[in-house]
Amino acid sequence: MNEIEYKIHIDDVVRRVETARLKVSEYHIVKIVAISKYSTADEIKKLYNIGQRAFGENKVQDLREKSKELEELPLEWHFVGNLQKNKINNLLDINPALFHALDSLELAQELQKKLKTRDMTLDALMQINSAKEDSKHGFMPEVASEMYQKIKDECPNINLKGVMSIGAHTDNKDEVKKSFETTYEIYKSLEGATICSMGMSGDFELAIECGSNMVRLGSVMFNK
Ligand SMILES: *Cc1c(COP(=O)(O)O)cnc(C)c1O
Repeated sequence: MNEIEYKIHIDDVVRRVETARLKVSEYHIVKIVAISKYSTADEIKKLYNIGQRAFGENKVQDLREKSKELEELPLEWHFVGNLQKNKINNLLDINPALFHALDSLELAQELQKKLKTRDMTLDALMQINSAKEDSKHGFMPEVASEMYQKIKDECPNINLKGVMSIGAHTDNKDEVKKSFETTYEIYKSLEGATICSMGMSGDFELAIECGSNMVRLGSVMFNK
């Protein structure tokens, strides 16, 4: 698509986000993170030119390459994938705006060590496995609040900002909704949390109606 086609397309996505957020409240603000994992630097640039600033990748290597290629642009890079311990240093070299998928205490402790050595901090979200799926990473809902506090206490160089979850993997809308509600309830119970990252291309309107204030949109943003 050329830039004008992108503009028309993005206007439509933004309208859908607007409609969903207004069902919650006119004060409910939702941020769109454009997930660029299926897209090229050139396509990212087109979205940048029509106003999109926040982009996300799910592989450290891709994040490194694209952020390097586009370093002249003032982009805000998010890392939304699961982080292997041996990639921590590579991620910290990039210093992303937000890491969405802090999914274990072990990872938090490893991150803390490396952050302390570098004398840096990292904004992060705790990933919740809200539908308790074997295929997914994240903390189980029952332990999430307790672990959130534990990480806050033990890992002062990690700034926990809230939670992230991927909706239940099913066509049953009620179950997807339930998984979002579970995450939202945890989010509301956390003192000081400000970000509830949930909703992807196939379910972002439902996620927003359940309280999400950050959606991670890949295919729908780039029209893939
Ligand atoms: C790929 C990905 C997305 C975006 O997926 P779409 O369905 O293309 O919108 C969101 N979050 C995570 C963690 C992803 O890996």
